[in-house]
Amino acid sequence: MKVDPDRLASRLEAELGRAAVRRQPELLAARAVDGLYPCLICSPANAEEVSAALQVCSETDAAVTPWGGGTAVQIGNLPERVEIIIDVSKLNHLVEHDDANLTAIVQSGITLAASQEITAGARQFVPFDVPNPQRSTIGGIVAGNLNGARRVCYGSVRDLVIGMKVALPTGEHIKAGGKVVKNVAGYDMCKLFVGSLGTLGIITEVTLRLTPLPQAEATLAASGDLLQLSEFAGEILDSVLLPSATVLWKSETSSSSEAPQSGWQMAVRAEGFAEQVSRHLRDLQLMAERLSLRTAVCSTAAHEKLWAGICDFPLLGHEVVFRVTVPRSAIADLLRCVQDWDSTDFSPAIVADMAAGAIWIGSNEIRSAAARFAQLRSKAARHKGHVVLLDAPADLKRDLDIWGLAPEAFFLMRRIKQQFDPQRLMNPGRFVGRL
Ligand SMILES: Cc1cc2nc3c(=O)[nH]c(=O)nc-3n(C[C@H](O)[C@H](O)[C@H](O)COP(=O)(O)OP(=O)(O)OC[C@H]3O[C@@H](n4cnc5c(N)ncnc54)[C@H](O)[C@@H]3O)c2cc1C
Repeated sequence: MKVDPDRLASRLEAELGRAAVRRQPELLAARAVDGLYPCLICSPANAEEVSAALQVCSETDAAVTPWGGGTAVQIGNLPERVEIIIDVSKLNHLVEHDDANLTAIVQSGITLAASQEITAGARQFVPFDVPNPQRSTIGGIVAGNLNGARRVCYGSVRDLVIGMKVALPTGEHIKAGGKVVKNVAGYDMCKLFVGSLGTLGIITEVTLRLTPLPQAEATLAASGDLLQLSEFAGEILDSVLLPSATVLWKSETSSSSEAPQSGWQMAVRAEGFAEQVSRHLRDLQLMAERLSLRTAVCSTAAHEKLWAGICDFPLLGHEVVFRVTVPRSAIADLLRCVQDWDSTDFSPAIVADMAAGAIWIGSNEIRSAAARFAQLRSKAARHKGHVVLLDAPADLKRDLDIWGLAPEAFFLMRRIKQQFDPQRLMNPGRFVGRL
């Protein structure tokens, strides 16, 4: 550890007060990242205190791990240093909800569930589909930029964030974007921070584009073999229907009592006006019958449970989780390849977003994981796709770059990192190319 913990603690206590700094061993153990323990946890009460804390870190050369709900801190290469956790959970307020313009400004530490509860009063929501919304924070979701199954219907995290405030490692506070949807003259700096995984600064406030809550929603669940279900997905996506999500999965990743159980299953979600949902269910059922698939309609609690199960897939506790992204037309090829592993030593659980081309693969087999990662990378590369090892034990990560090959524009990323964080204090080593 480079820093002197006592000196760092006394500097932070002088700036933020004693209550903002905690050093109890059990709390530090609960905030370890890939086996590295921090020396203290700092909990600023507002954005100004986040800036003040970062300035102290910069002056004392302390490496910072921003912390929201802690549901996704394992994502990234092995950190070079973990010294201070800056926990933003006290920044958990709604700043403004402009229901007439379908926007909300929230502090970054508010959980998704709390934010949804506030805007539900005006029958509006932010269409993020994340695991564990009771813990996942808006700041963490924006920093992680991981999208859920309704992305094709409502847009990605990047589309739904229209403004933000960020505290930089220097302690400066910057504002990007604004309150209206068309508000950017010049470079759109918001896009830079979405997905930056806490490596450029700490997001303190986010302006979100909201969506009206649908009047009705329901799911058609179908089961069959991989070939039949891939064909079903292809027909749906080529049709005039606009389901909000089309997801294929295998094994115990979801358990709806109404959904028929078999190896492979598919869930097609419809939402909007009641007539629109009925029309989708009717047409989907006819298509499924033509392909001899077994089907069931899930509504209300069964529908909710099914989709919560699909969202929670990354946090089900698999030792390794891969995410493969390929063009839609290549999904079936990728799935066939992964299905072939099933008979050997890997036996993966799989969730595939058939509309966006994103496939999550979870397994408890660690020994062959590095070899599987290499196989997936070359298979995906043939389709101009990409693979990330989203979760793995620290020992496995030691010799791998979990992000796969660095992109061609990596030299620009390095320069951006150098510009924003020249001391390399923000989540050092975690990002693409160990930035
Ligand atoms: C293996 C895995 C796969 C996942 N896949 C998906 C998915 O497909 N779709 C989906 O929607 N969700 C997915 N998630 C969950 C999603 O990433 C979290 O919901 C989201 O990151 C918010 O979690 P959090 O608040 O707990 O963030 P944390 O776990 O606290 O932080 C996540 C990362 O963001 C940084 N960070 C946190 N807050 C801030 C901030 N205010 N400013 C700057 N940086 C910050 C942290 O340093 C850390 O690197 C996945 C999670 C895991 C572990």
